[in-house]
Amino acid sequence: MSYDVIVIGAGPAGSTAAIELARQGRRVALVEREEFPRRKVCGEFMSAANIPIFHRLGVEEAWRAHAGPEIRKVALYAGKRMVTAPMPGGESFGRALGRDVLDTLLRDAAKGEGADLHQPCRAVALDHVDGEHEVTLEAAGGESRTLRAPIVIAAHGSWDRTTLPTGLPKNAGTRDLLGFKAYFKDAELADDTMPLLAFPGGYGGIVWADAGRLSLSCCIRAEALDRLRQEHSGTAAEIVHAHLLASCRGVREVLEGAELSGKWLATGSVRPAIRTRYQDGIFRVGNLAGEAHPAIAEGISMAIQSASLLGRELEGIDLHDAALRDAAGQRYSSSWVRRFGPRLQVSRTVAWMASRPHAFGGIAALVEAVPRLLTVGAGLSGKA
Ligand SMILES: Cc1cc2nc3c(=O)[nH]c(=O)nc-3n(C[C@H](O)[C@H](O)[C@H](O)COP(=O)(O)OP(=O)(O)OC[C@H]3O[C@@H](n4cnc5c(N)ncnc54)[C@H](O)[C@@H]3O)c2cc1C
Repeated sequence: MSYDVIVIGAGPAGSTAAIELARQGRRVALVEREEFPRRKVCGEFMSAANIPIFHRLGVEEAWRAHAGPEIRKVALYAGKRMVTAPMPGGESFGRALGRDVLDTLLRDAAKGEGADLHQPCRAVALDHVDGEHEVTLEAAGGESRTLRAPIVIAAHGSWDRTTLPTGLPKNAGTRDLLGFKAYFKDAELADDTMPLLAFPGGYGGIVWADAGRLSLSCCIRAEALDRLRQEHSGTAAEIVHAHLLASCRGVREVLEGAELSGKWLATGSVRPAIRTRYQDGIFRVGNLAGEAHPAIAEGISMAIQSASLLGRELEGIDLHDAALRDAAGQRYSSSWVRRFGPRLQVSRTVAWMASRPHAFGGIAALVEAVPRLLTVGAGLSGKA
């Protein structure tokens, strides 16, 4: 099957890219290995900066209809400290929406724009054949099919093992972060507040998402989890849950009387970094292009915004012309760094401080004395 563009992965980055390219009149294949709706390790908060993009993508109304309450306050829960401050901005505010709902909305919008959906289908190989890219898919029943196109947009995320050359090596080092996520019901948290959780070895966040679900997500260093395993028994998620309760007063207060809703989810290595964004007709978007520490809750935004940025760079270009493709790839790469580089830097600082409560103690005390520092930090991370 022949296309202009093959997009691998229908997360926020892939579906956004598919919408943008299909609107340009391109023949787009969108490949997703999972059935939707599906849950995902993610805090699910999206800042107000995405609203104009949701509008452009045609999903703003549905997003507003489904998403949880407006988040007007940012908070820091570190040890015994619980500090709250206003979210920057002032006119419109971010909200959280479950990835089961959001990703389905965006995928359906891509389909509505004419993208050809291959789901559930796993991309298992990516080869260069006669000047084009050939992507081999394996459908759920084991049936195999081959797609060809002059360009590929790799949007398959960065956390899973893959046979694709666009994936990351799965080295699972002790410095790697492991991600966890759960929903709770009947929790005690103000509707409009999103606390950052600081605890030894990691960081996390809690926020009300859609349908009365409290979303709790966190990252912990593999080496910190290994140390905890020596003191506690249970699954990794149970150990992390117990660690959060023991080390963070805010988590205890929020979850007292709350009930776990569904299972804990976990994901392998989360490795925040800037990566190759373009090479030989293959464009990377979302987490594959670069990933901030989830401490700043900007990954979905960066996924959507990077795919939109790429869509603009490819507009009107003959995708069979290698020189034009390469030039677009260079422009996309540079714009990516200008746009998201500062957010990655802020996320590194926040993550470093949050996961070291001893070093962080003085800063947390300062934030308690001057809560507006939280507002400034949220603004620097992309919330303004
Ligand atoms: C603990 C935690 C909390 C977070 N909280 C937030 C938050 O509150 N707000 C925020 O903005 N971000 C948050 N993030 C980050 C956010 O989840 C990611 O940045 C975002 O999911 C990246 O989107 P993506 O489209 O690049 O990749 P993904 O969302 O990972 O999507 C990739 C898609 O590709 C599919 N796929 C994978 N391999 C293949 C294949 N071979 N063939 C076909 N399909 C394939 C997958 O099934 C998936 O649907 C958090 C992350 C973690 C770990």
